[in-house]
Amino acid sequence: MINFETFGDKADFALEFALLSDSIAAEPEESKGSWGAWRLWVAGVNLCDIRLQGADGYTSAVQEVRWFLAPVFRWLVDNWMPLLHEKRLPQEGTVVDRRSCSARDAYLATLESAGDDPARFYPWQEWAGRHSLRSASEGGIVPDVFFQRMEDEIEISWGNRIQPGAEAAMFMAESGVARASVDCVADALASAIDWFLVPNDSVVFDWKSELTDSWTKIKAGPIGKSAVSWYLDSNPKPGPLTKTILSVLEKLKNPPQPQESPWLGTLSPEVAMFGDLSPKITNPAAAKLLAEYFKARSETGDSDTLKSLVSEQPAWVHSSPWHNGYALALEVLDKIDPAPKASESRIETMLENLGVRVREVKLGRHGPRGVALAGASLKPTILVNLDHLKNEHRGKRFTMAHELCHILFDRTSARPLTHTSTPWASPTVEQRANAFAAMFLMPLNRAKLSPNTRRSDLKNEIGKLADRLKVSRAALRQHLANIHEISQEELEFVSPY
Ligand SMILES: [Zn+2]
Repeated sequence: MINFETFGDKADFALEFALLSDSIAAEPEESKGSWGAWRLWVAGVNLCDIRLQGADGYTSAVQEVRWFLAPVFRWLVDNWMPLLHEKRLPQEGTVVDRRSCSARDAYLATLESAGDDPARFYPWQEWAGRHSLRSASEGGIVPDVFFQRMEDEIEISWGNRIQPGAEAAMFMAESGVARASVDCVADALASAIDWFLVPNDSVVFDWKSELTDSWTKIKAGPIGKSAVSWYLDSNPKPGPLTKTILSVLEKLKNPPQPQESPWLGTLSPEVAMFGDLSPKITNPAAAKLLAEYFKARSETGDSDTLKSLVSEQPAWVHSSPWHNGYALALEVLDKIDPAPKASESRIETMLENLGVRVREVKLGRHGPRGVALAGASLKPTILVNLDHLKNEHRGKRFTMAHELCHILFDRTSARPLTHTSTPWASPTVEQRANAFAAMFLMPLNRAKLSPNTRRSDLKNEIGKLADRLKVSRAALRQHLANIHEISQEELEFVSPY
């Protein structure tokens, strides 16, 4: 029976550690005196549930990792800032895989396609060094777990890949993903580190003094600016986005406040808004976006009609964000369509009735396609970026419907919604909003071809239907195939190439 110390809440995120005296491995200098056992709990699941195959073929079940504890703590302290604050996945060498639902999925997809191309894979390897728990193995076995900051939460994704060199150990937890608040994860980690580094007068190890120095430095802070630059620019030093936001906030005499804890748990709405922007966005466009955010600040919040539709529904919990987006669109449309018999969904009227303001602004070619502002002390607002190629002609309507989905379902209670729609935003959130927009503008009862449509007329009929629905032909074609109104073969037949 091992007497574990528990840090955190097993239902969300917790670690258990125990120091043991029965070391079975030769003690390396840098881990001396740290033999022990540990477990990692996420959403009530022990990720250190292992089956070990012995040389005699006999399999034994163990509920914890037994190894030196120093490597895990060294990794936590060395990577403290990026682990808790870095949000972006490497863009270089990335396969754009919109089905990647978690950081681990994205890493594995890139490993598969670019793993044997060192130049392309290098940024991912570096990133995994900061976010994959396996980087802490130092000869031991470690569960296959990735951490990624997502706004004010940490996504934890795991699976049971066999660790090279540790083929006899199998982790039992099948792949999964969960989230816990940054405060909850950071607090559990920090108290575990404090416990581990508690001074022991009788024996002094060099590795421990070094680790204690690093940890003391982190705790002494300040971490405000470097947390923001890890979040926005994946760098401890301010990169382009951090510099822009700091210069504007300082001009407004509203610089980020120093932190009391050695981590940044809740982002300011401005920093959250910058988190998904392209690093290529120009300074004037970024300043303009901030100005729009300040303009939207007001005492009057949601209208009563809007309030009755809003609910916090995290996209990541749905196995198919796409189907969830469809269902939500039909539900909302059913409640607010002012002209159910009309041939098109009157998005502009509906937004007006809900008290959502639409502003057409120029946010540059690298700016977001759309922006959704809502929640505490913000007037619900949709920004449509006129410089974005997809907002030409009927694309604007799609952007409005997409942003409406964010306003209704992507809020978190802690701070106002300041969402920008870009390729850097969370894939599940964007997928759901795209599906919502498609179904909102092309609901099943409106997106119907006449049953007698001849194949030779198909292209023509789709064109006419797109005009009635006021959507682009390309969007309609794809949507008709997605809802099985036309077959895949017909889709290829009517597509221009
Ligand atoms: Zn979006």
